[in-house]
Amino acid sequence: MEQSADLMVIGGGSAGFAAAIKAATAGRTVALIEAGVMGGTCVKVGCVPSKTLIAALNLRWRALNPPVQGLGLRGEAMDAGAVFAHKQALVETLREERYRQVLAAYPTVRWVEGAARIEAAEPAVRVRVGETVWRAPRCIVATGSRPWILPISGLAGTPYWTSTEALSPTAVPSRLLVLGGGAVGIELGQLYHRLGSAVTVVEASERLLPREDPEVSAVVTKALGAEGMTVCTGAAVDRVTYSQERFTVEGRTAEGHFQWVGEAVLVAAGRRPNLAGLGLAEVGVALNARGGIAVDERMQSSVATIYAAGDAECVYVAAEAGSVAATHALGLGDRRIGVVGGAAGHLHRSTGGQRRLYRNRSRRGGDFRYSLDVAAVVRASRHRQRGARGVHQARRGIGHRTRHRDARGGGGGWGDHPGGSLCRPIRHDLGGFDDHPLPLSDPVRGGTAGGLGLSPRRRQALVLCG
Ligand SMILES: Cc1cc2nc3c(=O)[nH]c(=O)nc-3n(C[C@H](O)[C@H](O)[C@H](O)COP(=O)(O)OP(=O)(O)OC[C@H]3O[C@@H](n4cnc5c(N)ncnc54)[C@H](O)[C@@H]3O)c2cc1C
Repeated sequence: MEQSADLMVIGGGSAGFAAAIKAATAGRTVALIEAGVMGGTCVKVGCVPSKTLIAALNLRWRALNPPVQGLGLRGEAMDAGAVFAHKQALVETLREERYRQVLAAYPTVRWVEGAARIEAAEPAVRVRVGETVWRAPRCIVATGSRPWILPISGLAGTPYWTSTEALSPTAVPSRLLVLGGGAVGIELGQLYHRLGSAVTVVEASERLLPREDPEVSAVVTKALGAEGMTVCTGAAVDRVTYSQERFTVEGRTAEGHFQWVGEAVLVAAGRRPNLAGLGLAEVGVALNARGGIAVDERMQSSVATIYAAGDAECVYVAAEAGSVAATHALGLGDRRIGVVGGAAGHLHRSTGGQRRLYRNRSRRGGDFRYSLDVAAVVRASRHRQRGARGVHQARRGIGHRTRHRDARGGGGGWGDHPGGSLCRPIRHDLGGFDDHPLPLSDPVRGGTAGGLGLSPRRRQALVLCG
């Protein structure tokens, strides 16, 4: 059987939904194809469950560690099962409200269940889903990512956790080893520490959060240490074994050999795009250095009829990317993704001191510069009351939404750049700082922190304080 639509979107997660809604709002028909569960990673096993649990445990942590003495707060025994059940109930509610009901509000979006495979890309895209072949002039691949499992001897044969299992455990382990000191590893490690586990985070690089500024790593490392977590950086893990419900992890640091024994190991070493079986190579879609689909700022791949968004192209602003992809796939405008860094750009640190000057290369080839007030980041984090809202959220505050311009003086856009709300645009011609604070509206989420009358710095402090 053959069916057709104006646009095909493969993957019903954040990026896919944003793309479908953008197209439907413009009156186009969409086939939104999903092999698994509606909503994808964010609502099911990502942002929503992790931030729900982090927020819940933060409440308890603050009650047990109040900044003011004499309040008479006491911690009752925790019912971890009830906390996880609350999280699951919220996930189900949000999936219903945010996705199923949203879909119902856009009748031109057809929800198609099944795994998609691209059979042809030109002149139109043909995608097979079971017995049906869907046909559309354009297709957006938004198939997301999955945890990357480190190739460590013995690990594959053990019942290790990924973030998915860690968010729905059968029991809270008394000792947890986290392999990976990135955002997911740290925030889930801290979560389990606050649930009562003795947590050790093992990171191969010399510092936690190796993709962030060293100052950010230092602040986070200090905060986690002050809470009682063990952090082991510059560590190579050689072997993992599992016997009698105990893991044994062996490895090396500069100081020598180490061995850890405990009940659970969480592998949080990053994620890899879900592209297998999609038929991308057969139709000539090129990949980027991180194994995602290579796209330009319009989210167009090397094949003109195929676009990509979200984790499938390795730039982690799924909803924004999905919307931009649909905009260009359907010729609805010229909105561009502002993301640089990572695969698209190259970050240079060009001055020292408290206010750092960064230089980056825009996707259009020009350079732009912006500054990050490192001291303000550190100050804000010092002022925060104990407890993270989740490293992802702190990163979002530190690292996102600043305005940029390209070297030709062209108008910039809003995107995700290191520096975020503490950044100020720099006038290229004068080479000096532009002291006007940045507007605070958030075009992705539509909120306006400026409406609250907050300065960028205070807003940043709020992000870090939780
Ligand atoms: C623990 C954790 C915490 C996180 N916290 C945050 C946070 O606080 N803030 C933040 O911004 N990000 C966070 N993230 C990242 C965020 O969840 C992802 O970047 C985002 O959900 C990716 O959306 P997506 O639409 O690209 O992919 P997904 O949401 O994964 O959707 C892809 C969909 O495609 C489907 N699919 C795959 N292959 C096929 C196929 N062949 N045919 C049909 N369908 C297919 C999949 O079943 C899936 O439903 C977190 C991630 C994790 C794991």
